[in-house]
This record gives sequence, structure tokens and C-alpha cells, in this order.
Amino acid sequence: MSTKEILNFINGEYTTGTSGKTFENRTPVDGSLIGVVHEAGRSEVDAAVAAAKAALNGPWGKMTTEQRSEILHRIADGVTARFDEFLKAECSDTGKPVSIANHIDIPRGAANFKVFADLVKNVANESFETPTPDGTGALNFSVRRPKGVIGVISPWNLPLLLMTWKVGPALACGNTVVVKPSEETPATTALLGEVMNEAGVPPGVYNVIHGFGPDSAGAFLTEHPDVDAITFTGETSTGEAIMKAAANGVRDVSFELGGKNPGIVFADCDMEKAIEGTIRSVFANCGQVCLGTERVYVERSIFDEFVAKFSERASQMKLGVPEDPETDMGPLVSHEHQQKVLGYYQKAKDEGATVVLGGGVPDMPGELANGAWVEPTIWTGLPDDAAVVTEEIFGPCCHIRPFDTEEEVIELANSLPYGLAAAVWTENTSRALRVSTQMEVGICWVNSWFLRDLRTAFGGSKQSGIGREGGEHSLEFYTELKNICIKL
Ligand code: NAD
Repeated sequence: MSTKEILNFINGEYTTGTSGKTFENRTPVDGSLIGVVHEAGRSEVDAAVAAAKAALNGPWGKMTTEQRSEILHRIADGVTARFDEFLKAECSDTGKPVSIANHIDIPRGAANFKVFADLVKNVANESFETPTPDGTGALNFSVRRPKGVIGVISPWNLPLLLMTWKVGPALACGNTVVVKPSEETPATTALLGEVMNEAGVPPGVYNVIHGFGPDSAGAFLTEHPDVDAITFTGETSTGEAIMKAAANGVRDVSFELGGKNPGIVFADCDMEKAIEGTIRSVFANCGQVCLGTERVYVERSIFDEFVAKFSERASQMKLGVPEDPETDMGPLVSHEHQQKVLGYYQKAKDEGATVVLGGGVPDMPGELANGAWVEPTIWTGLPDDAAVVTEEIFGPCCHIRPFDTEEEVIELANSLPYGLAAAVWTENTSRALRVSTQMEVGICWVNSWFLRDLRTAFGGSKQSGIGREGGEHSLEFYTELKNICIKL
């Protein structure tokens, strides 16, 4: 594999910038070098924000919603036309199986542009006829205007999909963006610049700067006074740092943060469905899904049966290279993350867990031994305050605990400061309603997981996020709603 140069994309042009700093981009599959990334310094971030600000008043700002929608469709088509290129870049950066990325990351990443392009054309704004003392009345109505320059900070677990989930609605609403992709996965965000140019997106509308968080491009961007709002997906602690930066100038934030999501399996579930669904929610993307399950609660009468069947099924998962269609699970995203996850594997042992499955590093053949692999891992027997039961690990692992009553499990599920997602497995509709409405989360699935309708609200409660995106809810953040009152 030849070494790629991954450049910043500012005002429609690729540039190394003047910082003189680069960092390596290595694949977690076998640790080999796939690219050298040019880090943006303050001057590149300044240039990107200035370009984004200027573009608001250029051709982009003068286009109708229909014209912008057409361009967004062309962006989606452009990604689809270069599907294999995006797929290869995403799988090299993340190590995830092609069989997953080719039906989730890339197609959904492209679809995000179409969904929001179509949505903005069909949203009605409110209007009221207001009585006045003199009897003539007034007409109140609202219009939506773009918020301005949006800073987009994205994570590494679903790089293209989560980035376009923000860039799609931002552009559909007429904003311009400066994107800082994760330092672990810069390739597809950079590649999208070419598609933007091909689709006729005016220079400055979509900008990409590379680098890290503190004292690097991430912080330079969020601190920049000309960034009007910041949308961020990543860890809760990073959200806290970004919120502090956004406080200067009282800039708006939209946060999709961490979770420690419960899965609740009742004795009246369909066992096969519950096992298949929980296998996906625990191990998909090597456990690196914000919505994934890391705490499983199983009603005591079926606990032993569930643990036995679940671990049997998990033990059959095939670890392998992205290109192998048989691969169920790839490596973790990086060696750094591998060390974090293995730290929790050790902690579980120290805290007295029964290791039902895994718990270490798998024996991978040849060059793969240099990759960031970990075993799918299942624990039981830990107290509710154990670190691996309360902290987000973001790996292919879960703790399974028995429960006796509905009240008890609702309390357990809601006991942490996180509130992102939950999955409930029961064939009893009354129970499904009772339990799902009491979950302190942004999204609760019943007898399913990761089933998304993009028109619905998406986000986290408690420390898992601020705001909702998806469907019309995205307009709340990406537009400024203005009321106009006309006295008749
Ligand atoms: P992270 O917080 O470490 O990094 C995310 C991004 O923030 C990266 O681009 C990083 O460079 C940047 N960053 C870090 N510090 C910064 C700072 N001080 N200022 C500005 N930018 C900064 O998260 P990650 O490890 O990339 O992603 C995994 C995390 O993301 C997990 O906690 C996961 O739950 C969460 N996540 C949440 C959702 C959701 O929808 N709620 C979706 C995906 C991932």
C-alpha cells in the first residue's frame, strides 16, 4: 500500500498548510503506515474559518433552498460514484469489516445529504393571527435563517456517517462548515472535499482541518470567535472542554456524547431474538458504537440459559481482516484504544469478575499480530459499582447481571449519569410501554437495536448529550428561527 498524503481542505483547495507538522495515519489491522496527515496550525484554522465566513455572503448564501438541495443530491451521488474509494479509505482507517461499512458507513454517509436536502424543502414555519386592542390585528410568522459558520468535531467510530450526519443538515440549512475529523480517521473527511468540488459546492462552504484536540486544530477551531456554533460527537469529558470554549461569545452547542447503555432481557422475551440483537448491540463495530450495550440485565429465571447461549454465540464470531466477507469483527481503532480496553479487561479481573468469555488479546496470525485486536469478552458476577459496570469502555464486551423485578431493573438501568440508549427485550406490549417510557435515555429500542428512522429525534439525555438532531429537529440547531410581527 502506498503512503498517502492527507491534506487540509480550505476554500476549495487542498493544502499542506504552513505548520510544518505531520502525523502518521496507521491502520489498526496490522499497524502498517497508510498515510501522513498534515496538521493544521492556528493560521490554517483561521484561513478555514475566514473562508467559511466569506462563503456565507458568496454564491452559496444567495442560492435558493432548491438550488442548495440539488447540490446536496449531487454530493450524495458523488460519494456513491466513488463508493469503493470511500469504502477502502474507511476500512483502512478503522479496521472495520467491509461487509459492515458497505451497507452502513458509506451508503448512510451519502444518504445523510439527500435526507436533509429533501427535508428542508418541505418544512412549514408557524404563523399566528394575533388580535390587537385597536381591532386591526397583527400577523406573526417565522422564518429560518442559517446560523452561520458551524464548527464540526467528529469521532473515529463511524467517521463518514457521523460527520455527514452534521454536515448534511448544516449545508441543507445554508450554513458553511469547518470540519475537524478525528486524528485516527481523517481519510474520508478529506476525500469528501474532492466530491464537494465535483458537485459544484462553492469554495469555502466545506473546509477540513486536521489535528488533535487540546493545543491543536480541535481547540483552535472551538475557540475561534468567528465560529457561530459547534456540533460535536465524542466523549463526555471532551464535550465539557468544548462547552467551556463555546462559552466565550455564548456560542450554541449540539453534543452527542458517551454512554453506558443497558440492555434488559425479560423472561417473556423471544430468546433467539434477544440473543441475536444483543450480540449485535454488544459486538458490532468491535463494540465501538455509542449506542452499543455494555450492561446486560437478564431476568433471573432465564439468566443461566441466556448467559450460556449468548457466550456460545459470541464465541463463534470470526475475527479477521476487513476484506474477508466472513469477518464478523475487526480490531479496535488504535493501539492506544486497545490499551484502554485491555486496562478494563484487567480491572474486571481485579474486581473479581467471572470471565465467561475472552478477556485478553487473541492470537492473530503473521502481520496481524501487530494490530489492535482484543477478544470479545463477557463477564458476570461484578457489583453494581464496579468500574467496568459504570464506565464507558467502548470495546467488544459486556457485563451480564440477573434481576428479579421490573422496578429493580428500571432503577439499575437508570442508575448512571449517562442516558444515551437502551434496548428492552419482551414480547409483552404493556411491559414494553411501561419500561421504555421510564428509561432515562434519548432512544429506547424494544425488540430491536440500531433501527433508525432519520426523521426521528436523535440525541442523549443526562451526560450523554445536549440537543436533538434528526428530521426537523436538526433545524433547531442549524437555523436561527426569527419571528416577524406585522401590525395590520
Ligand atoms: P473524543 O472525545 O476523544 O474525540 C472526538 C473528537 O474531538 C476528535 O476529533 C478529537 O480530536 C476532538 N477533540 C478532543 N479534545 C478536544 C478539545 N479539547 N477541543 C476540541 N476538540 C477536541 O472521542 P472519540 O474517542 O473520537 O470517540 C468515542 C467517543 O464518542 C465515545 O465516548 C462515544 O460514546 C462517543 N460517541 C457518541 C455518539 C453519540 O451519538 N452520542 C456517537 C459516536 C461516538
